[in-house]
Amino acid sequence: MIKSTLEEKKGLLNPEKKVSEEGLERSLRPSSFSEMIGRKKEKHNLSIMIESAKKRKASLDHILFHGPPGLGKTSFAHVIARELNAPMYVTNGSAIERSGDLAAILTGLEPFSVVFIDEIHRLRINIEEMLYPVMEDSALDIVIGKGPSAKTIRLDLPQITIIGATTKMASISSPLRDRFGMHIRLDFYNDDELFLMINQKAKILRIGITEDASYEIAKRSRMTARIAIRILKRVRDYAVVNNSVIISTEMVRFVLDLMGIDQIGLDETDREILKIIVSQFENKPVGLNTLAVATAEDENTIENVYEPFLIKKGLLKRTPRGRVVTATGIEIIGKKI
Ligand code: ADP
Repeated sequence: MIKSTLEEKKGLLNPEKKVSEEGLERSLRPSSFSEMIGRKKEKHNLSIMIESAKKRKASLDHILFHGPPGLGKTSFAHVIARELNAPMYVTNGSAIERSGDLAAILTGLEPFSVVFIDEIHRLRINIEEMLYPVMEDSALDIVIGKGPSAKTIRLDLPQITIIGATTKMASISSPLRDRFGMHIRLDFYNDDELFLMINQKAKILRIGITEDASYEIAKRSRMTARIAIRILKRVRDYAVVNNSVIISTEMVRFVLDLMGIDQIGLDETDREILKIIVSQFENKPVGLNTLAVATAEDENTIENVYEPFLIKKGLLKRTPRGRVVTATGIEIIGKKI
């Protein structure tokens, strides 16, 4: 019989988070749909699902969020649990190493709990397979023993909701993908949405900011909420050190220059990627692997963090033979071929 102790659960849930950071992150996260900026369509669809689940007194169907980092996947998971009034447990695909780890998380949950698995693409295949009956039949199959004498026992679980998040949808196997009743792709934010978000977070951080300064951050945040917040915090530090209670555009520009972020939000690595393709490879298609070696970044980061933004901005193009820089991209880095 598998038993999960509180200590075991504590280690597997909320991995890799420091307490103080967690507190600040929590205060910056929206706590209801009304506090979430933009995402009208997604909020509408989710509200209907939630309302229906509540009326039917059933658990909410499993939901998979995908898209580049920093666009609200985790925030949505928290808000959904709150709107459901359900307890939420947070873990990460890489933290669940053994089948006992999954059992430790899932046994003893209250009915209708939400289990959020961030980076779900990092689940090991044996763990992923254990999740199938959990998601379909609210049951956990546990193998006892090895070899011919191995036996499977089935534990009944309460109805729960699994919310998965991934930056790598292509790495999610189709059996796992199919078991989510809703797939939500979160795209980049526009400048107006980021502007509102920066004002919202500035209030939480108790710092004033002019409208122009907010827009300046919005324009230079790679269309990404997390980056806008990171920049806001750094400019806040600068303002505090200079005994200023209100952030001005000049301060934003000064801090962004220090951070190496240019007018359209490109950082050094973005520019490096574009420059390498154009000057070292004469803008002939470059494979991901070659690009990773040339920039000393790992393939995953290039593919899932840098490229989506560069492609969205129309600076980079993926072709079947590799990556090439667009005419706009060439103009931006000031190179002529
Ligand atoms: P992800 O899980 O996709 O990496 P997060 O949910 O952690 O992204 O979001 C990063 C930060 O941006 C969080 O601090 C969150 O508060 C903020 N954020 C993201 N989307 C929104 C939104 N629509 N409204 C308000 N804040 C948001």
